[in-house]
Amino acid sequence: MKIRTKAVHTGVNIDKTFNSVITPIYPTSTFFFDEIGKNKGYDYTRSGNPTRAALEANIAALEGGINCSATATGMAAITAVMFFLKAGDHIITGDDIYGGTYRLFNAVLKPMGYDFSFINMRDLKAVKAAVKKNTKMVWIETPSNPLLNIVDMEAVIAIAQKAKALSVVDNTFLSPYFQKPFEFGADMVVHSTTKYINGHSDVVGGAIIYGRKDLQERGRYLVNALGVSQSPYDAWLVLRGAKTLVPRMEAHQVNAIEIAHFLEGHKNVKKVYYPGLKSHPQQVLIKKQMKGFGAMLAFELNTREVALNKFFKKLKYFALAESLGGVESLAETPWYMSHASMGEAGLRASGITRETVRVSVGIEDADDLIADLDQALKG
Ligand SMILES: *Cc1c(COP(=O)(O)O)cnc(C)c1O
Repeated sequence: MKIRTKAVHTGVNIDKTFNSVITPIYPTSTFFFDEIGKNKGYDYTRSGNPTRAALEANIAALEGGINCSATATGMAAITAVMFFLKAGDHIITGDDIYGGTYRLFNAVLKPMGYDFSFINMRDLKAVKAAVKKNTKMVWIETPSNPLLNIVDMEAVIAIAQKAKALSVVDNTFLSPYFQKPFEFGADMVVHSTTKYINGHSDVVGGAIIYGRKDLQERGRYLVNALGVSQSPYDAWLVLRGAKTLVPRMEAHQVNAIEIAHFLEGHKNVKKVYYPGLKSHPQQVLIKKQMKGFGAMLAFELNTREVALNKFFKKLKYFALAESLGGVESLAETPWYMSHASMGEAGLRASGITRETVRVSVGIEDADDLIADLDQALKG
């Protein structure tokens, strides 16, 4: 099966009671036993639920992993993965990772005794130099948020393997359609399904996809023990969204390429960050590990000409909102919104400025989106 067929069919055809074409929602907390020790594979919804299992089979197939846990949010997935480790363990990660992940690592886990190195992961020498005796995990996010820096997955994962550390990739930004971390040796992949996999901005969710049986067993144990699994209602919605992942990603990308070119030529835009532009400095890596460029981009607004707040107020189709990956376009300021929890020093270190605008390009008509940006950029 190719990925488009997997998206529509995997995990879906499970109703043998009434032959419903669509996976039913099983909103039950508990399942009865036919006799002691004999049930139909489910006993309690925190541990397992047929609707959630359908979604898990679907996402595992899309990503090319052996199994998946669907979680309440993306952060729930990341939290569960961090419980593979314990206080005293060392984790190498980027200095420009998702703001919520940074907050969990730096403000919650670090005070509990987890040891982190937040580094520029594009610099392979820095990654090698960061390895310590207690290094147990390398956490990769590529492309990074919001500046679309690319981390060399194959090289960084090789460093992790040599150190006998787990390698985990947050693949939210490109989705399984445009990037396959398991092909580069990742042990686990995580997603915020809130974003492209669901794609309709109407649910929050997450996923951990396992590349190995031992990780699957431990991961599923942790998700149940921590109680972070996804509600059957939410799992049902995410499964509905996942079926159209491929055509959505293609439509998102067509628009993003057009918009990136428009912005790059605009006099009130100082710089555009998008992997689909020739001006992106990491062309070789982009070709090697990405099957597409995605639809997230960022740019530096010339705020001497166009005031930041005025720009957002004038936009009609780009809602001023955090999040990304939905069919509708969004725009926001990482400095004041999505990445504010990094603090001024952290923001500066990662290259984010007060003028940085992050855009999640939706699937509306590109001409309408460009006309909208054009009038807002007049200042
Ligand atoms: C949104 C996001 C998360 C967190 O997911 P939630 O569903 O909001 O908890 C993690 N990583 C990345 C890259 C994200 O964009």
